[in-house]
Amino acid sequence: MSKNLFVIAGPSGVGKGSLIKKLISTDLNYTLSVSATTRPARAGEVHGTDYFFMTKQEFDKCILENGFLEWAEFAGNKYGTLISEVDSQLALGKKVILEIELAGVRQVKKLRSDAKFIFIAPPSLEILQQRLAGRGTENPAEISDRILIAKDELAAQGEFDFVLINDDLAGSFERLLNFCELD
Ligand code: 5GP
Repeated sequence: MSKNLFVIAGPSGVGKGSLIKKLISTDLNYTLSVSATTRPARAGEVHGTDYFFMTKQEFDKCILENGFLEWAEFAGNKYGTLISEVDSQLALGKKVILEIELAGVRQVKKLRSDAKFIFIAPPSLEILQQRLAGRGTENPAEISDRILIAKDELAAQGEFDFVLINDDLAGSFERLLNFCELD
């Protein structure tokens, strides 16, 4: 069953979101599991589409009720994958994508070892920094935080089945699709 589960990780700002959006709009069999988070919504983000935005209390209750496949803290907020979201989509025969950070990836690896693990890397750390600053959704302190985390994430590339260097969207997308379609 979990062979239809695709776990995608990589530093913040690397372009995971654009690649996943393209994958989902190209092939309707793919769907992105909507995570829960305690992070405040950014401008334009919609509850239930981008994330399920929860209070810390709601999130902790969900942990106690074993509602998460995995969860982790990232840059001061909690993020988690809802088991109900993932398993209902897998049961429908969908290919389910999790876009999660490293600690969560390691938990999923223990629980769903036949999932496919994909790491998206930037061409360089400098380019990543430029992209993060360019998108303008984080302040300078948050960007430094995310760059620090990125260094740890880049060091963990070897734990993944496939490493994709996101140098240009069209080429990277083609390579991602090819990998996802392998049996
Ligand atoms: P952002 O705040 O930029 O939306 O996400 C920050 C980080 O949290 C990203 O690396 C993203 O992949 C990760 N993330 C999003 N949802 C989840 C989740 O459900 N679980 C875990 N472990 N990480 C998540």
